Amino acid sequence: MSSIPILDLSPEVEAHWAEFQAAFERVVRSGQFIMGPDVMAFEAEAAEFLGVRHAVGVNSGTDALVIALRALGVGPGDEVITTAFSFFATAESISLVGAKPVFVDIDPDTYNLDVQQVRAAITPQTKALMPVHLYGQSADMGALMTCAQEHGLLVVEDCAQSFGAQYHAANFGRAADAWDGQQTGTMGHAGAYSFFPSKNLGAFGDAGLLVTNDDAVAEQARMLRAHGSRRKYHNETLGFNSRLDTLQAAILRVKLGYLPEQNRLRREVAARYTGLLAGLPSVKAPAVTPGHVFHQYTIELIGFDRDAVQRELAARGIGTMVYYPVPQDALPVYSGQYTVQPRSAQASQQVLSLPIWPTLSAELQHQVVSALTDVLGTLAPEQAPA
Ligand SMILES: *Cc1c(COP(=O)(O)O)cnc(C)c1O
Repeated sequence: MSSIPILDLSPEVEAHWAEFQAAFERVVRSGQFIMGPDVMAFEAEAAEFLGVRHAVGVNSGTDALVIALRALGVGPGDEVITTAFSFFATAESISLVGAKPVFVDIDPDTYNLDVQQVRAAITPQTKALMPVHLYGQSADMGALMTCAQEHGLLVVEDCAQSFGAQYHAANFGRAADAWDGQQTGTMGHAGAYSFFPSKNLGAFGDAGLLVTNDDAVAEQARMLRAHGSRRKYHNETLGFNSRLDTLQAAILRVKLGYLPEQNRLRREVAARYTGLLAGLPSVKAPAVTPGHVFHQYTIELIGFDRDAVQRELAARGIGTMVYYPVPQDALPVYSGQYTVQPRSAQASQQVLSLPIWPTLSAELQHQVVSALTDVLGTLAPEQAPA
């Protein structure tokens, strides 16, 4: 039995090597490494793909979040309601602009913001909501946008894991609404994408994108990414050095062309897993819902010591990851400031992400599931709490 990593980027690199090489050569020979023509071209192509007015290339997904908050005027004294269950960059961006992250718990099936709890957390200081489309699945944007409109709140979408994912009201048991079928990132006042190499659309290094339909927000974002200047050497505010590399833009242009097919393949891989896992009662498998692009295929292990299962899988050559072992509200950076949200805490103990990439074969998936079946048969279920 061969060993299977959680992610293998090499098939994609090999499949399109000639195009990557041509893109690389074009940029290097042009000498325009900063804000070259490929940056503008990628911004235009990404905006068209997503169906949004403006796309502003930046240095990382984290910077896209920070710049989105700054461009929208979120700062000290403001509260931003977000999910406890995400990568720290989500809360970090809120803290970095001087605002206060207010953590609410997740819906146990989608691992995304529970809108009832969002409503309950609104105070006079609440300025914005920051939903995360975790694992490649849209949060309940219809309900969140309705809530935001009722309370006059801004919405910044963390789309780091959801390039190409769409929101569908039917996934939440409702009839089509005004946002139905829209790409994540295009419903709120701004959306932030990450092109970290492992993301669905991944660069060959750090890169990110801010999207918005608001002309003024786009202008602010363009200014903030370039040291707070609209005109060179006429800096108006404290900004960042956070431009999208021309080389990364050129690589991303190649990859964007293949993304729809890759997301379609990811959904096929996910559906195959969900079928294969149906016979394992202690495994909660994700549903393959419309618009979900499976950045991760994440199961929950019910009644087992997840870390022991992960170790045993590793011993059998199967790579897995835990996204995320510590909820944001329980991180040392916020020590003692928050009451930990219970569903997020439980998810952080039970989730396990299995290997996934677009061309992962059915044969390797069978190996993953048979190893998991074997491990669960070997390990004793945990004692039920007294
Ligand atoms: C990856 C990720 C980020 C940060 O993106 P970077 O490009 O690494 O800065 C933010 N939020 C979530 C949910 C992520 O998964």
